[in-house]
Amino acid sequence: MVISTTSTDSGEHLNSTFASRYVRSPVPRFSENGFKMPENSMPKEAAYQVITDELMLDGNPRLNLASFVTTWMEPECDNLIMASLNKNYVDMDEYPVTTELQNRCVNMIAHLFHAPVGDKETAVGVGTVGSSEAIMLAGLAFKRKWQQRRKAQGKPCDKPNIVTGANVQVCWEKFARYFEVELKEVKLTEGYYVMNPEKAVELVDENTICIAAILGSTLTGEFEDVKRLNDLLTKKNAETGWDTPIHVDAASGGFIAPFINPELEWDFRLPLVKSINVSGHKYGLVYAGVGWVVWRTNDDLPDELVFHINYLGSDQPTFTLNFSKGSSQIIAQYYQFIRLGFEGYKNVIENCLENARVLKEGLEKTGRFVIVSKDVGVPLVAFSLKDSSKHTVFEISESLRRFGWIIPAYTMPPNAQHVAVLRAVIREDFSRTLAERLISNIEEVLKEMDSLPSRISTREAHVTATIHEIQGGKPDGKPLKKSVRETQEEVTRIWKRFVDGRRTGAC
Ligand SMILES: *Cc1c(COP(=O)(O)O)cnc(C)c1O
Repeated sequence: MVISTTSTDSGEHLNSTFASRYVRSPVPRFSENGFKMPENSMPKEAAYQVITDELMLDGNPRLNLASFVTTWMEPECDNLIMASLNKNYVDMDEYPVTTELQNRCVNMIAHLFHAPVGDKETAVGVGTVGSSEAIMLAGLAFKRKWQQRRKAQGKPCDKPNIVTGANVQVCWEKFARYFEVELKEVKLTEGYYVMNPEKAVELVDENTICIAAILGSTLTGEFEDVKRLNDLLTKKNAETGWDTPIHVDAASGGFIAPFINPELEWDFRLPLVKSINVSGHKYGLVYAGVGWVVWRTNDDLPDELVFHINYLGSDQPTFTLNFSKGSSQIIAQYYQFIRLGFEGYKNVIENCLENARVLKEGLEKTGRFVIVSKDVGVPLVAFSLKDSSKHTVFEISESLRRFGWIIPAYTMPPNAQHVAVLRAVIREDFSRTLAERLISNIEEVLKEMDSLPSRISTREAHVTATIHEIQGGKPDGKPLKKSVRETQEEVTRIWKRFVDGRRTGAC
């Protein structure tokens, strides 16, 4: 049968969408070859149905434990978001109230992070698309400040570097590559998955624009010791006459520590901390698309980086990488701040930590896992298999997909690549019932795996078994045949076979 392709099908406006030809034609439907825009229009109901149906095959965001990014908000806030979808944030002149809400958010965050601002002063900061943009801006400010210092001293400023742990989020590597700054990474070691402050300070030289510490390592949720870093760096600065500052990447921890660990000094209470970024769309509890960067004082943001544009008749200072963007996320952030208040955020995070504890205890009870994450930090559970000689965390990750769970498995950065973990991020919409269900699904997967033949070859099994000897020592006390380093490298190669071609999904 020939299906008519004109837009005057009989019954087009009478038939239900599923009785129309649109549900059996390929989309894009009228192009002869590939992905061209279709020649003709289709009814809105059909377009809606066709797209909705295809999107059903995406994972369920609520079961996506790979991500820190918010997947649930109150319906009232959804309404606010929908109502402001048509507002371009950059039209500050036309939407002064939206701009004002952003400024209030910046001030609230600056106070939360103990920025030295008076009650009547406005804090220095800006809303961004996420922590990535915030980090680019903070990094640029450090680079410019360093260049200014070097030029004033008549010294060359063509080889800037930045010191981080090897556990940094990929956006720091992006910053380094896009803005031509060398990334000097402190290597990790097994059992210690954050930046070692001593080693970081050792890496600092006269070309270091800043050290970036992470509050809430993406891999294990652990808070880095910013206070110790501040103390060590203060000493080194005094000895060398350099002026190396600290940036804190508090993408996830910035909305955790102030509520749960108020005594922990990681923020502007430490004199060398000059800027901090935080993701509004992580524990700031807003859907994807908002982040924040705050500077300690006006002096820490070089004036040359701020653009003053005469936009539709008024002066508009901007410091962002892009121009137009939506307003919804800023408004949604403001909603969360006034709706939840300090009390509400504290309760949400406490619930997350409690559910993380339930999950962790459930995993420990199986006797099969080593918990890699710490109790203080971002509510997540990172765990590795005690025995990977027959099955791996990558298989567990794959099997859990069948239940709908998205839990990534990945190997640690250098020099801990031989350690492979699973990571479940606990967000506010992951309730205890879900935690218990996840545990029982993991138990099922383990049972199933035990009954299946191993996909690991004998040689590989030997190598992964050897790693346990490194960890626990040989029972008979005999020395290992190979060096620890050789064995680690071999194990890493084997992990690679499981990981290759797969996203790590750790964001
Ligand atoms: C998520 C994350 C980022 C990137 O932030 P986006 O908000 O996704 O752009 C950077 N650093 C850390 C530590 C993160 O957890």
